[in-house]
Amino acid sequence: MNDPNCPICLECSDLREDCPHFLAEIDRTFGEARGIEDEDFEIQEMLNTSFSLAPTAAGYSNELLNDVFKSWIGSSVCNADREIDELAYYKFLQDLLVRCGAKTGISENNDAGGPGFSSDMDVLYAENTNEVLEMAVAWVKQSLGISVNK
Ligand SMILES: [Zn+2]
Repeated sequence: MNDPNCPICLECSDLREDCPHFLAEIDRTFGEARGIEDEDFEIQEMLNTSFSLAPTAAGYSNELLNDVFKSWIGSSVCNADREIDELAYYKFLQDLLVRCGAKTGISENNDAGGPGFSSDMDVLYAENTNEVLEMAVAWVKQSLGISVNK
């Protein structure tokens, strides 16, 4: 097991959840953002709601958002079943968090475990995890035109 080390304090290798800088584990294989489940859910809800209100729009001016939107448009023939494409979404979420100040762990366990054990996963850290999460949620709201006071 080769767990990523925190790029900030450089000392926490085994129990990354104990590191005060641990932000999230983005697992694109299983479609999870461990450690930030609430924000993950909130952001997905906002995206799904916004996308379903404007399914024929040309898209968003923002490049990050546009990639998820395009994957959503193409994700299903049936409108009612539309959901955000997990791969595109978790890539977006990670890019967003990095843009808001998160740092990727030093080594990644994209794994030497052999067939069946590979996992496309990154661990993110931040100096101030709350600040990064607040920025990320605020960024999504602003980009979607959702009132921040809502
Ligand atoms: Zn640390």
